[in-house]
Amino acid sequence: MKISLTPQEIEKRLMDAGVQPTLQRIAICRYVLCEADHPTAEQVKDWAQQNLDKISQATVYNTMNALVDAGLLRALRLPHTEKVIYDDNIEDHHHFFDEETGRLYDLPEEQIDVRSKLPKKFKTNRVEVLFTGKVED
Ligand SMILES: [Zn+2]
Repeated sequence: MKISLTPQEIEKRLMDAGVQPTLQRIAICRYVLCEADHPTAEQVKDWAQQNLDKISQATVYNTMNALVDAGLLRALRLPHTEKVIYDDNIEDHHHFFDEETGRLYDLPEEQIDVRSKLPKKFKTNRVEVLFTGKVED
C-alpha cells in the first residue's frame, strides 16, 4: 500500500530528518515513498536519470544513503539477490518473495508467528523472515 504525499509533506519529512530538501531529493523521495515498490538502487538510479535533469549516479546514491541514515527508508539485503533493496516500510515486518514475478510483498508482523528455540545466550534484537514461493490469485 503506497502512501501519497505532497511535495511540501516530503520536504517537511526531509527537514525533520535533517536532510537538506533539494528539488532532486524531493523528487527521488517521492518516487521511492509513493511510487516504487521495494526498488533496487539501480532501479532508483534509472528512474532518476530518466526523469530528472542531469542527475549523477553519485547524487542518487548519496540521496538514498541520506534517506536510510535519516530513518525514512530501510536498505534490505535479501538472499535472493545481491542487490540492495530499498523499503519505505520502516515498521518491523516480514517479506514474501514471489519467485515467478520477482515481486516482494510486505507481511505484517502479526501474520507470522516466530517461536525461537535458541539457547538463552542468543540475545535477539530483530527477527526478519523471508518466505519464497508463488502468489496465487
Ligand atoms: Zn518491505
